[in-house]
This record gives sequence, structure tokens and C-alpha cells, in this order.
Amino acid sequence: MYWEKDIETMPRDRIETLQSGLLRDTVRLAALSPFYGKKFRDFGIDPAGFDGLRSKEKLPFTTKDDLREHWPYGFLAVSRDELVRMHSSSGTTGRATVVFHTAHDIGQWTNLVARCMYMAGVRKGDVFQNIMTYGLFTGGLGFHYGAERIGALVIPAGAGNSKRQIQLMRDFDTTVIHIIPSYALHLYSFFEEMNLLPSRDTRVRIAFIGAEPHSERTRKKIEELYGFKAFNSYGLSEMNGPGVAFECPEQNGLHIWEDNFLAEIVDPDTLKPVADGSEGELVLTSLRRTGMPLLRYRTKDLTRIITGDCPCGRTHRRIERITGRTDDMLIIKGVNIFPIQIEKKLMEIPGVGNDFLIVLEREGYNDRMTVKVEVGQDFFDGDVLHLEKLRRRITEDLRSDILITPQVELMAPNSLPKTEGKAVRVVDNRKE
Ligand code: AMP
Ligand code: ZN
Repeated sequence: MYWEKDIETMPRDRIETLQSGLLRDTVRLAALSPFYGKKFRDFGIDPAGFDGLRSKEKLPFTTKDDLREHWPYGFLAVSRDELVRMHSSSGTTGRATVVFHTAHDIGQWTNLVARCMYMAGVRKGDVFQNIMTYGLFTGGLGFHYGAERIGALVIPAGAGNSKRQIQLMRDFDTTVIHIIPSYALHLYSFFEEMNLLPSRDTRVRIAFIGAEPHSERTRKKIEELYGFKAFNSYGLSEMNGPGVAFECPEQNGLHIWEDNFLAEIVDPDTLKPVADGSEGELVLTSLRRTGMPLLRYRTKDLTRIITGDCPCGRTHRRIERITGRTDDMLIIKGVNIFPIQIEKKLMEIPGVGNDFLIVLEREGYNDRMTVKVEVGQDFFDGDVLHLEKLRRRITEDLRSDILITPQVELMAPNSLPKTEGKAVRVVDNRKE
């Protein structure tokens, strides 16, 4: 049943002993990099005397700005000729940051992704279609290598070209896909256009969805439309990419692989740890990376630890699905709003289609928020009165949740612009 049973079900005290040793090694190694070498001197940390987990809070935090300021090589703990691969973040929030890997790092990462995929039920003999951008983005090659490690047949389809994706699925009996959730919803409209039903006309039984925030309702919607199981895959390029935390068959939280990452949840303002089970910012330390170790990296992703044991038997702690980022928070008329809140509400309303866009404008000193919502095809073809009713319902439901009244515009199915990568949810025209 398990890919690496001994590791995945290791008793907690042993996980912590393991982490402590790995953290000591990582601190010693990190000290060789220009960035941490200086940081340790500034903080008075003696890497040789660092005593592991109990001193973790003495270590400095690392931020995306640090990565930008010491771009590109300031975090390398090995010489450049040890490196075999570079990746970068998708750059949704400013200049893309880069991460370098040694052959050892790629081996570890591959193993982690294989572990995740196996956990969800992928086996040798499966046909895996990777509907993700290949290249600098980690979702392409990361999953590609993981699937090959299991022995699945990999179709490196890449993103986009929807009709061809469907053709590939049908021609080669694809059983497993990896897809961005917003794109999965969009792709469904091509099935409709081609008069096909994914559950009847393809053999896909497992999907990995991730790379962007999505609600439980969106997952359910994808599962219902396609008739497969969709597993939440979380990762970030700074911590390799996919393979950091992943859902098990229980689909109740994502196990963080604690033999590779040290996870902390902190209050984003005070940077102090929050109580177990409370929401805060996820902070991660790589424990086995050699090329570019990162200590206490502030992911800006908001989540909480799910307390209690997982019925699947794995002992690595679980996090809740990401509820937002500290930096995608919108402040509209002084109210803090995360795009995921809007998505969650919209997906609960019958008649709402598969995509939406938030547009922000400033009129004088006032913020104006417009939510453009694609309508489902049936609704769109129906009565205008129904459409007006739907528009009012959306306005009212959003108002009761976010406490400000948005302007709601209903849009034809598939009329909002689509991207090949992560969905763009907000257009903020308020900035001068
Ligand atoms: P990148 O470094 O470009 O791969 O982007 C990583 C970021 O994507 C993370 O820090 C999250 O904000 C977001 N992300 C990745 N996977 C998920 C997921 N499963 N759910 C929500 N957000 C995710
Ligand atoms: Zn589990």
C-alpha cells in the first residue's frame, strides 16, 4: 500500500529526532552560502554548535525579497559545477525567483513526487498526462520525473491546446492527469463542445490539481463534472515545487513530508508560532536540499495544522488547504478580502459557470469592485428574467459574505480571458 511505509508512518518522536539531525546538517551546509554565512555572523549563530530542532526559532527567517536581492547565486551552498537544474517561480507577484538543484536534490524531489502520486493510487501501468507548462515552472518536470519513477507511461502534453488534450486522453487511454483547477473547469467546456462526457469517453480516474488556491466546492465540482477523484497538490518552487504537501485518499488535509521539510505556522505580523490548529503563515525549511538550502522560508500561504491522527496511518502532520496568501489579500473600502472567498461563494450558487474575474477601480476616493461571473450554458440560453434573478442572488450572497456590495456582471460561458498557467483572478486598476 505504501511507497515508503517506514518513513510515512514513522512515530512522531522518531520524525522529530530525524528532523533535528537534518536541521543541524542543513544549518552547517547553509553557512557555506554567501547569504546565510553573513546572516549567521550578524545573528551570532555558530553553525558548528547549532543543536537542532530545539533551537529552530533562533534561525533567521528568509523571504522572497531576500531571494530577489541575492539573485541569482547568493544562496548557493555548493559550487556552480555541482548544479544540474534551474527552475523559477511563476512570477505572479513580481520578478521571478530562481532555485538551483544538484543531482541529489533532483533525486530527492523525484522521490517525493512519486510518493505523493503513489499515495493517491498511481501505479506502474498507468498512463499519466501532464497538462502543465513544461519549462521553468516546476509543475511540468516535477511531476514528469515522479511519474516515471513509479513506472507510469508519461505523456508530456504541456498546457493548452484543449481539443488536443482530449484527443490524447482518448487515443492513449490516459488514466491520470495533472491539471490546474481553473483550467480543468475550462477544459470541460471543450468536452461539451465535442459532445463528449469525460466519465464515459475517457478512462481518467485520478487527477492532481494544484498550483493555485481553490475551494473544496471547486474540487467537488471538478470531481462531479469529470467523474474522477481530484487530489490537492501543494508546493512552491522555493521548496522544489510539487511534492511538499499532498492529499492522501482520505482527502482531509495535506500531509507535509516532514522527513524533507520542517513546517512552522506563524502569525504573519508577530512571526511568533500560533497554537496548533490556528491559522497562520506557513514557514518551511528544506531539510535535505544540498544546492540551495532555505531556512524558515516565509511562504506567505495561509493555512493551519489539522490536529489528530489521519485514518490512513501516515504520521506526517496535515495542513488545511491553502485559504489564501498574505499578499493576495485585497483591501476594498477598508475591508480585507481574499479572492478565494469570492470563489467559494460563487461556486455554491447554481447557475454560476466556471470562471470569474474581480475588477477593482477607483472613483475619486471610492473603491469600486466589479465581479464578472461566467454563467452556465443552460442558464445562459434560458430566460432573461432568470439571469437577472441570478445576478441579484450573486450580489446578495457576496454582500453578506464580504460585507461590501459588488457590481455583478454576468458573462457568457467561456468569455473571460483564459491563461495557460495559474488563473488571473484580480485586475486592480486602482494603482496609479
Ligand atoms: P510557484 O513557486 O510559482 O510554484 O508558486 C507557488 C505558490 O502557488 C504557492 O506559494 C501557493 O501560493 C500557490 N499554490 C501552489 N499549490 C497550491 C495549492 N494546492 N493550493 C493553493 N495554492 C497553491
Ligand atoms: Zn492521510
